Amino acid sequence: MRVLKFGGTSVGKPERMHQVAELIDDGVQKIVVLSAVSGTTNSLVAINEAYKQQGEVEAHQLINQLEEKYYPFIENLYKAEAAHSKAKNFIQKKFDFLRSFDVNSFDADDEKMILAQGELLSTNMFVFYAQEIGLNAELIPALEFMKTAEGEPDLDYITKAVEQTLKQTPKADYYITQGYICKNERGAVDNLRRGGSDYTATLLGAATQSDEIQIWTDIDGVHNNDPRIVKNTFPIHELSFAEAAELAYFGAKILHPSCVLPAQKSGVPVKLLNTMQPKAKGTIISRNSVSSKRIAKAIAAKDGITAIKIISTRMLNAYGFLKRVFEVFENYKTPIDMITTSEVAVSLTIDDDRNLDAILNELKDFGTVEIDANQTIVCIVGNFTHRDNGAAAMVLNPIKHIPLRMISGGGSDSNISILMDTKYKEDVLISLHEGLFGEEIKARLAAR
Ligand code: ADP
Ligand code: ASP
Ligand code: MG
Repeated sequence: MRVLKFGGTSVGKPERMHQVAELIDDGVQKIVVLSAVSGTTNSLVAINEAYKQQGEVEAHQLINQLEEKYYPFIENLYKAEAAHSKAKNFIQKKFDFLRSFDVNSFDADDEKMILAQGELLSTNMFVFYAQEIGLNAELIPALEFMKTAEGEPDLDYITKAVEQTLKQTPKADYYITQGYICKNERGAVDNLRRGGSDYTATLLGAATQSDEIQIWTDIDGVHNNDPRIVKNTFPIHELSFAEAAELAYFGAKILHPSCVLPAQKSGVPVKLLNTMQPKAKGTIISRNSVSSKRIAKAIAAKDGITAIKIISTRMLNAYGFLKRVFEVFENYKTPIDMITTSEVAVSLTIDDDRNLDAILNELKDFGTVEIDANQTIVCIVGNFTHRDNGAAAMVLNPIKHIPLRMISGGGSDSNISILMDTKYKEDVLISLHEGLFGEEIKARLAAR
C-alpha cells in the first residue's frame, strides 16, 4: 500500500482532477488523500464567521456564492450526463445542509461540521469521475477511521480502524479518502487544523506501513526559503526527518506543522512532488537522507508568537526554578517553543496564547513578567555543530541591522532560531537569503 496526498490546488480545477486520476493510475494499490478544492476551506471559515457574527442572511449569501463555483466545475469534470447529475445532486444536498444551520444554537461542533464539507465535496466529486473513466476506485470515509484523543491523532486507533474499513470495502486499486477531517473522542466531527491533509497522509502512511508517502502540491518540493516572500528560492532535494520537522513546525507552509512526526516514527519516507511538473525531482525526507556539506540549508518563519520574560532574583543560584515555571505552562497545556536564560531572567515563547492571561497571573508569583506580542520566529535549519567555527556569525551577520529579541542555538545541531518583531520578518528572510545563499543563487542564475 502506498499513500498519496493531493492538496487544494492539485484538485482545484476540473483539469487538475483529470490529471490526478492519470497520476494515480499506475497499477500500484494506494490510498489517495484529497484536500478540499482550493479556496473552499477559506470560504467555509468565512461562512462560520457570518453565522456567528452577522446572521443567517449573510451566511447564506456566502454559501450561495461558493455553491455557484461548483456547478461550472462539474460541467467540465465529467464526460457523461449520468456522472454529472449524480455529482449535481450530491453538491445540492451538501449546500442545502450548509444552509440548514440555526444561528441561535450555532456552536463549535457546528463550525467543525461546516469545515468538514470541503473535503467531503472534493472526494465524492473525484470518485464519481474516477469511476466514470473506469478506474477501480472506492471511497473510504475518513470519519470512520481518523480519530483524535485530547486534540491529537490517536495512531493506534487509526491503525486498527483503517484496516477494518479496508476489509469492509470492496477490493479496489485506489482508495480515495478525505484529508483534514476526523472525529474527536466525543465522536463529534473535528479536524487536524489548517493544512491538515498532509497530516492525514502521514498518519495513514504510518498506519498502513506504506512504502512511501507522496505529498503532491503546487511547487517542486521544500524550498530553501519562503517563496511567497523571497525571490530565487530553490528546492532542497534531500532532508532528514529532523530537518523537515523543524521547517514544518517553524512555518514552512508546504508541510503541516506536525505531519513529519508519524513518518519519522515509522521510518516511512515522504516525497514532496509537484502536480504541475510531475517529473521534477521534488524533495525526499527520509532516514537515509545525506546531509549536504552546506552549513545553512533552509529558512522558515512562524508568526503569531508571544515572548514572555520572567525576571527574578530568586533564580540566582537556585535549582528547581525553571521546573516551576514550566509547570505553569504544562498546567495550561501550552507548548513552549524557544527558551533563552540568563542568571536572573528567562525568556520563552508560545504560539498558543489562549490561556495567556491565566499563565501571566501565575507567573507573577515568580517575579516581574514582561510580554512582547506580535513576534516571529525565524528558524535556520542546517548543520550547525559546535565543532565548526563561525556558524553563528554567518547567520547573524546578514541581519546585524535588525533588533533581535531572542537568539537560540546549540539546542540541536540542526537549528538556530531567532525571534524578532514581525515587522522585521520580510527584511530578515530576504537578508538571510542573500547572506546565506547569495553565492549559490548567483551560480544557479548564471547556469540557467
Ligand atoms: P497544498 O494545498 O497542496 O497543501 P499549500 O498551499 O498548503 O499547498 O503549500 C504549498 C505552498 O507553500 C507553496 O505554494 C508555497 O507558496 C508555500 N511555501 C511556503 N514555504 C515554503 C517552502 N519553504 N517551500 C515550498 N513551499 C513553501
Ligand atoms: N482544506 C484544509 C485547509 O485548507 C486542509 C488542507 O488543505 O490540508 O486547511
Ligand atoms: Mg497544505
